[in-house]
Formats: sequence, structure tokens, C-alpha cells
Amino acid sequence: MSSKQLTDFLSENLNELKSKGLYNVIDPLQGANGPVITIAGKEYINLSSNNYLGLATDARLIQAAVEAVNVYGAGAGAVRTINGTLDVHVQLEEKLAEFKKTEAVVVYQSGFNCNMAAISAVMDQNDAILSDELNHASIIEGCRLSKAKIIRYSHSDMDDLRIKAKAAKESGLYKKLMVITDGVFSMDGDIAKLPEIIDIAAEYDLITYVDDAHGSGVLGSGAGTVKHFGLSDQVDFQIGTLSKAIGVVGGYVAGKRELIDWLKARSKPFLFSTSLPAAAVAPCIVAIDIIKTSPDLMGRLWGNGNLLKKGLQDLGFDIGKSETPITPCIIADEKMTQLFSKRLYEEGVYAKAIVFPTVPKGGGRIRNMPTAAHTPLMLEKALSVYEKVGKELKLI
Ligand code: PMP
Repeated sequence: MSSKQLTDFLSENLNELKSKGLYNVIDPLQGANGPVITIAGKEYINLSSNNYLGLATDARLIQAAVEAVNVYGAGAGAVRTINGTLDVHVQLEEKLAEFKKTEAVVVYQSGFNCNMAAISAVMDQNDAILSDELNHASIIEGCRLSKAKIIRYSHSDMDDLRIKAKAAKESGLYKKLMVITDGVFSMDGDIAKLPEIIDIAAEYDLITYVDDAHGSGVLGSGAGTVKHFGLSDQVDFQIGTLSKAIGVVGGYVAGKRELIDWLKARSKPFLFSTSLPAAAVAPCIVAIDIIKTSPDLMGRLWGNGNLLKKGLQDLGFDIGKSETPITPCIIADEKMTQLFSKRLYEEGVYAKAIVFPTVPKGGGRIRNMPTAAHTPLMLEKALSVYEKVGKELKLI
């Protein structure tokens, strides 16, 4: 294909995405991703960040980042196994292990590559993975990369998981079997049925893998979904991100010492990608201490989540079946979802449309992310805009 043909091919596909309302417009922020953001000089109430506890803009984290830059410089300079392991990486891993109540932790550069790294370092073409159909894209990519057989089960359907686990085990085709689930499903806010998953895993000898990107800092006194259910010693892989409640960037696996040593020896992003800069690592250490000692932050997050959910429901919107502060407002039609989001934006509320492929086709929604940093007044203001735009577009 010539360069011209490639350009034509891509622009045809881009036009198709745009005509179907599936193309995301990107609006650069002029400043921090706090409860109020500035875009092109105008302020918006922000309902789209994963900055659950408001720590991304916390003065104590900022101070830690500045101090770390002064001591360690801007970049870490090498991959972890050459000489890119700084003492702060080790301190963060020890702190996370203690927080998660596991033997050890390995930190990666993002939650996304953490899933790519961890799944493919342990599973291979002789294995099979039972994966919830609504698992995050990074899990899907990690499963693909591993070359293991992927067996999708219906979302949180424990009968389907049991039937498929039994069949996989009895087939005798696979050396290792794994079950993977999000702890909290990011687009709907529902919580995985971990106690049942653990029972099924015990019955059919499944390795257990929970991606708790949206549970950490939110459930289980901040330690996440696994702790919420009291299952800390029964999950083999606990994945977390440092980019959401922790407020910075990065990802990690918490588990047994042998697992973490194996990942440090064999997982590709650990071996071949430059480690996180100290300016990202040092504030994560501070964030964990804050989460451990400030239950009021989680209280504010949940209070704001409940306020927004009740407000939207009272207005007549479909908010799905969220059990956490994640508050979807389900519109279904993609074009209408985009239009709704655009009108909210024009009225001063930044609440991004989420459409295929992030959610299934016909599942368009505005995903609202209240945080501990919002004031009730901000949320009430957002709700009045929702009412105005919802009525205007005849959605309520
Ligand atoms: N797992 C889940 C469930 C997620 O929602 C996300 C973030 N969108 C990730 C992993 C990736 O995390 P990160 O943004 O830190 O790469």
C-alpha cells in the first residue's frame, strides 16, 4: 500500500467513525485535572476524571514530586533491571505490599502495561483464561498477548463461569487455567462477585486474577475489592493502578513473593521499558499514607457519589446498576450520547460521552465520576444542567 493509499484508507475510516458518533474529540486542559477544569479559557465542572480522592492536586503529593525531581532529576534513566531501579521504587513496592497485605509488589509504568505484562508472563499457548466479557481493554490485550485460549463468560454470570470452568478443566486440554475479572467494572460501577469466583476457582483449580483499578482507594478501607470481601490471602494476582485514587501514574501487581520475583525476571515492560520517574513514585508513597490515615476522604467520595446518583435518578435518568461512586447515565444511542455530552459542555459541565469500543455498541453513556474534591454545590449545579439539557433533548 502506498503512502497515499494508506492516508486515503485511514481518512475514509475516520470519516466513518465521525459519522457514527464514535470519534472522540480531545480537549486539552489548561491546568490540573481537579473538580473544576479549564479548557480554552473557560471553566467547567469536571465529572470525567478518575481522580477519586482528589489526590492528583493534593499539596502534599505535589511537594513530594517537587522534592523528588530535585533529588533524582526528571527521568529514571534506564529500565528496572539495568540501573533504573531507584530506592523510591523499592520503598513504594514495600509500602504497597503492606497496604495490600501481600508478600510483595512489582510496580509498572501504567496499569495498562501492567496487565499486558503480568498475564503474558505467566500464561501461554498451553493454557486457558476465563475472562468476564466486560473486562478492561488492557486485560483483553494481555490475554491476547499470552496466546492462551480466551474463554469469555457472560458478565458476572456465575453459572456461566462455573459451566465454562468445568468444561475447560474436564477437557484436559490446558495446563494452567486462570479466571480474570475487574474488581469494579469501570463503565458500570458494579462490583465483581469475588466470593463466588473464589469458590469456583477452588473447585476447578483456577489461578485468580483481579484488576482492582477502580476498587483501590474506594473500597475495603482503601485497600480495594479483595479486602472489601476479606479475601486478601485468596487471590493470586491483585492488580492496581497508581493513576486513579492514588492520583499519579503507574500500575502494580501484588501477590506472593515467587510471583513477583517471576514477573521481575520475565515480564517485558519491567525488562525493556524505562521505569517511572521518581517524581511519579514519591507522591504515590505519600498518597498511600494519606489514604490509610484519612477515612474522611473516602467518606466524601461516597457521599458525593450518592448525591449525584440520587439526583440523576430523581430526574428520571437511567443510571444502571452501579454499586460504587462511578455514576453512568445511560443514553444508549451513540449520536444522542455525543450530542448530550456536547450540550452539557456548552452549559459548563464536562462529562464525556463513552461509546463503542469502550462500551458495547448501543451502550452509549455519560460516565460521571464524582470525587472527594467536589463540593455538594458543584454537583447540584451539574444536576441542574443535566435537568435543563435532558428536558431539551427529551430524554427525561
Ligand atoms: N484496568 C482497568 C480496569 C482500568 O479501568 C484502567 C484505566 N482505564 C486500566 C487498567 C489502565 O490503567 P492506567 O490508566 O493506569 O494505564
